[in-house]
Amino acid sequence: MDRILTKDATDFINDELLHSLIDNTKEDRSLLREIFAKSKSKQALTLEETAQLLAINSPEGLEELFQTARELKKSIYGNRIVLFAPLYIGNYCINNCQYCGFRSSLTSAIRKTLTEQELVAEVAQLEKEGHKRLILVYGEHPKYSPEYIAQTVRTVYNVKVGNGEIRRVNINAAPMSVEGFRIVKESGIGTFQVFQETYHKETYAKYHPAPTTKSDYMWRLNAMDRAFEGGIDDMGIGALFGLYDWRFEVLGLVRHAIYLQEKFGVGPHTISFPRIKAAQGLDMNLPYQVSDEHFKQLVAILRMAVPYTGLIMTARETSEVRDSVIEFGVSQIDAGTRLEIGGYQESREKGQELNREQFQVGDSRELDSVIQWLLNKDFIPSFCTSCYRVGRTGEHFMEYAIPGFIGSFCTPNALLTLSEYLEDYSSEKTKQAGYELINRELAKIKDLNKRDEVAAKIELIKSGKRDILY
Ligand code: SAM
Ligand code: SF4
Repeated sequence: MDRILTKDATDFINDELLHSLIDNTKEDRSLLREIFAKSKSKQALTLEETAQLLAINSPEGLEELFQTARELKKSIYGNRIVLFAPLYIGNYCINNCQYCGFRSSLTSAIRKTLTEQELVAEVAQLEKEGHKRLILVYGEHPKYSPEYIAQTVRTVYNVKVGNGEIRRVNINAAPMSVEGFRIVKESGIGTFQVFQETYHKETYAKYHPAPTTKSDYMWRLNAMDRAFEGGIDDMGIGALFGLYDWRFEVLGLVRHAIYLQEKFGVGPHTISFPRIKAAQGLDMNLPYQVSDEHFKQLVAILRMAVPYTGLIMTARETSEVRDSVIEFGVSQIDAGTRLEIGGYQESREKGQELNREQFQVGDSRELDSVIQWLLNKDFIPSFCTSCYRVGRTGEHFMEYAIPGFIGSFCTPNALLTLSEYLEDYSSEKTKQAGYELINRELAKIKDLNKRDEVAAKIELIKSGKRDILY
């Protein structure tokens, strides 16, 4: 494929500027006070303001940062957490990313692409567990053309087992041409994710050796522009933390968000911030590993800097880390995750096999246990896909931009999808905790007509009706 950038492709990452912001910004109490106030009024932050948050070192500063991020998350998104599962379709790959268990030089990796029959069986299994939202993941290979990816998306949507169905398919695949993005978009996808991995050019070149396709920094940096031109306005960006200085990557992500917002009037739909995990043949003695404390800090900073965007924390993180970080701004997590290709149909007792995986999973709990954990923390586990299905793109943006949107749409829809899960898939223990939470949430709805309406819809679900949306 010819790699043709958009006509106005720009390298909007100015390495020198980002370095100088990191090197020359010192914690300043009075500036911080202004930034916290701005953030509480739900405004996005500039690069300079983000650098000020990155410079916080004092215990009081950190305390206030976490407190502000926690409040902001509650006031914008409420206490819902959206759940999804990743589904790896194939791990053939022409690239040689030095950190990845699928890289081309790893001859010991077991390569596989799901057949159509296997794909159907994997989706059926995920539906039987209660999933409604998937992200399909692919290596980069001529086998995984836009047409092929679009076909797998259509196959997934067609699988229906009992009351189960997949209502939203997101994609994480190699960046495409404008035409490629258009073809995939037409299959009915939600978000298309492409992670820049590292925004730092020298480090990028080190981990993505030439002449692989992925060695082309600008082809990747320009991906979202091409996606936009191809009709996709629901974009996910991300950085792989641990390749370079975490502060630089946070500034890179914020710069990317500002750039998209300014150019297209739409910022990224989601930001992902995976930390690098053990993979086959990877020496984990990396110079820029991110500590748990800095990880928590970076999540809180991203929450404040880009308040309209969903934040995804994946099962790369352990259950303990997820437990201590989730409240600082995360809005989506995966659960019941298996990374082996075809792994959802296998017994969980089998454990992980690194030569069949991209990297090691940190949180391997089943979906039902994750839901129980969320309920115990007073979060509403949600499978809601309503915005996407009634044509409201940019669900997180709606929540952010429209006053009262959460109360009118998001919370009721989250409760309805939770109720579906409790009726069809949950353990008895989860069912009890789930309905206790639903009752607590119903009692919080001030408009009594609305409360009765939601309660009546939940009764309908109990009597067997499905897929009721606001
Ligand atoms: N092959 C496509 C690409 O590279 O864009 C699709 C995505 S890849 C299968 C998904 C993401 O996993 C990568 O973008 C990278 O950030 C992440 N990843 C790769 N190796 C990893 C590792 N060892 N630990 C954590 N995440 C990793
Ligand atoms: Fe291939 Fe993606 Fe892994 Fe790189 S990160 S080796 S492109 S699957």
